[in-house]
Amino acid sequence: RTQHLAIYGKGGIGKSTTTSNIAAALAEAGYRVVQIGCDPKSDSTNTLRGGAWLETVLDRTRDGANVRLENISAIGYRGVVCVEAGGPVPGVGCAGRGINAAIALLHELHLFDEFKPDVVLYDVLGDVVCGGFAVPIREGLTERVYVVSSADFMAVYAANNLFRAINKYAPSGGARLGGVIANSILPGFSRPLIDDFAARTGTRIVDHVPRSTAVAQAELCGKTVIEAAPASPQAEVYRALARSIVEDRSSVIPKPMAPAELRQWARDWGDLLLRDGAAEPAVAAA
Ligand code: ATP
Ligand code: MG
Repeated sequence: RTQHLAIYGKGGIGKSTTTSNIAAALAEAGYRVVQIGCDPKSDSTNTLRGGAWLETVLDRTRDGANVRLENISAIGYRGVVCVEAGGPVPGVGCAGRGINAAIALLHELHLFDEFKPDVVLYDVLGDVVCGGFAVPIREGLTERVYVVSSADFMAVYAANNLFRAINKYAPSGGARLGGVIANSILPGFSRPLIDDFAARTGTRIVDHVPRSTAVAQAELCGKTVIEAAPASPQAEVYRALARSIVEDRSSVIPKPMAPAELRQWARDWGDLLLRDGAAEPAVAAA
């Protein structure tokens, strides 16, 4: 049976990088994988395809031409099927609705029944700014949602907002949370902080992904870390993460913090770090 999994997270937090490395690691392990970029920027699958751009589903369909699967997908690293849903012309229309239309078209073109993927990964722009972006959660399109978050407050804030959306839709058949992928973890407080956030919201950390220069280097080459540096420790982290995601199918309905509670939680962490002198010396001095 195909697992449909969505990856959310604040803008720029590492969704596409993490998703592509998971896709590459799964493909390497023999899984049949589809990755769908659900972001108007349409750069989700670049590192699976040598950094090249791919025409989006919505741009293709806009011409009214006869659309075929070959025109709106590309075969990436180790056979990963790559799709970019695309978005509306800037300033016009709702990006979320576009995602919905693109996914419906993939069903109509029998991508899922013909390719029979083991895993479909949806890389979704994740501030849940409009209901449209909640489509993969809301309508039971995906069974589990993962959120990528660093220990930065705004990333945690976005994760907490996502939890509110899951919490709202899960009881009526919406997706549940698979867990938090803690990204860009550095030595020091970032790990205990994100772990505490997960504990406070009744969720779990799927894995901690360190901040690593291997990621930037691979990206410059238009590759995932799995492809560019397969023997690196970072590649091993992505392999373990990928395994955990497909093998552990547990999920929860998270318990988001109320806005004021989240603010207080952050302040308590800030105070604690200042007291312990764990923050940057300049900040501590101020
Ligand atoms: P957007 O919301 O714009 O789609 P995104 O969440 O998909 O962004 P990415 O494009 O994956 O984010 O990553 C943003 C930048 O952060 C990239 O340059 C990427 O190489 C870098 N990055 C992501 N994860 C890591 C990491 N663990 N270590 C180092 N750099 C990272
Ligand atoms: Mg992205």
